[in-house]
Amino acid sequence: MSDYDFDLFVIGAGSGGVRAGRMAAQLGKRVGVAEESMPGGTCVVRGCVPKKFMVYGADYGASIKEAAQYGWSVGDVSFDWPLLRDSIQKEVSRLSGIYSNILEKNGATLYSERAEFVDAHTVRLTTSGKTITAETILVAVGGTPWAPEIKGAEHAIVSDDAFTLETLPERALIIGGGYIASEFAGIYAGMGVKTVQAYRGDRLLKGFDSEVRDEVGAVQTNNGIDVKFNISPVEIKKTTGGFIVTFDDGSKIGTDVVFMATGRTPNTGTLGLEKAGIEMDKGGAIKVDALSKTTAANVYAVGDVTNRVNLTPVAIREAGAFIETVFKNNPTAYDHSNIASAVFTRPPVGTVGLSEEDARSKFGDDIIVYATKFRPMKNTLSGNPHKAFMKLITQGADEIVIGIHLVGDYSGEIIQALGICVKAGLTKADFDSTCAVHPTLAEEIVTLTARS
Ligand code: NDP
Repeated sequence: MSDYDFDLFVIGAGSGGVRAGRMAAQLGKRVGVAEESMPGGTCVVRGCVPKKFMVYGADYGASIKEAAQYGWSVGDVSFDWPLLRDSIQKEVSRLSGIYSNILEKNGATLYSERAEFVDAHTVRLTTSGKTITAETILVAVGGTPWAPEIKGAEHAIVSDDAFTLETLPERALIIGGGYIASEFAGIYAGMGVKTVQAYRGDRLLKGFDSEVRDEVGAVQTNNGIDVKFNISPVEIKKTTGGFIVTFDDGSKIGTDVVFMATGRTPNTGTLGLEKAGIEMDKGGAIKVDALSKTTAANVYAVGDVTNRVNLTPVAIREAGAFIETVFKNNPTAYDHSNIASAVFTRPPVGTVGLSEEDARSKFGDDIIVYATKFRPMKNTLSGNPHKAFMKLITQGADEIVIGIHLVGDYSGEIIQALGICVKAGLTKADFDSTCAVHPTLAEEIVTLTARS
């Protein structure tokens, strides 16, 4: 046994940290974990999980409206935000408790306080002042919302605040065109809030396939969101009835809540990384090699703090690879290619692999694009005018599928299975030889014809 207090000390009990701490403890390692907030991290406490509940909440409202054409007569309906908020918080507390238990049940020691580096083998717990040493340290502290420092910025909320709002606003202004802005605009609109989404670019979801970006714009509009492009806020002014936000084109928007969904930044600020010789990039993310090792030989980092692919399941996979590398003598680099993901707009986006633009710039004309847009069966009766969109991109004579992009109901579910196909290197012929499941929305993916 080494002279250190622990074999592994993990800073941050989010998705990556808990997975690594639990796995190391199960291998019989002496594990300590520090978490200054609720165990579970961004995803469980103030991200994916409560957000998805809010999406479900918003969807019920739309379903009630659409139910009439399916024979249901529904009386007066109203939405009780405090009820949903409190139900969600109760579930979040339950899940957070499970995360604590997972660690403690497997023999890890959880410290409910903040840890900062003293040197590469030593951390100090900032509340108790206790100093702890470890042979290996894993930094898994995630990220935090970032907002531009415009005049009156203190009046804005960020995603961390959105889950516990005391009252549901009548009007919401959401700044940004990325994941969080697009998802929350859909949530608020679904809850009956008069919602404006203001984005500095000309199409939402930068980096996604350009047709998906157009379709998501249509999705937002279909949900009653007023999407404004090519504007950035310069000032937020508090008024008696709410806030007035001024934009760089001189326009002004009045609202009850200003929600800055303008990106996230790694949580490295006051960790004392320099004391351990751990380097960061210019955005504050910890620099790591393919094995998640930092510039300090015994310190590793996984998840959003490394700003590679900032998704919960990726942090979990990186943590698993870290355990293989450090505790199983099996150096393992997690493969970040072809990660399927979803954006939970209403309906959602599902995507895996290359966008058409990226495929074209990588392979030139050696690609074939298959696409369709159609009114889903459910919407023909309900009257919802939304049309689903599907695109599949192949490369080379063998037509290997290198990208799939969906916008429509269940896309987040469907893309998980399609992610397996892309990861496995299947071809268009494999898709064509697969019999459709009828009548479903997903069946269209095995009957696609090439775009002329
Ligand atoms: P994103 O990077 O996706 O979006 C940030 C948005 O803010 C962009 O539209 C950006 O514009 C805009 N922006 C940035 N700076 C400014 C500024 N100074 N003024 C005005 N607008 C600005 O970040 P999010 O916070 O939405 O999400 C962070 C990450 O969290 C995501 O990238 C994703 O990895 C993860 N996430 C995943 C989810 C999922 O899997 N469903 C859900 C939520 C988050 P521009 O596009 O021009 O840069």
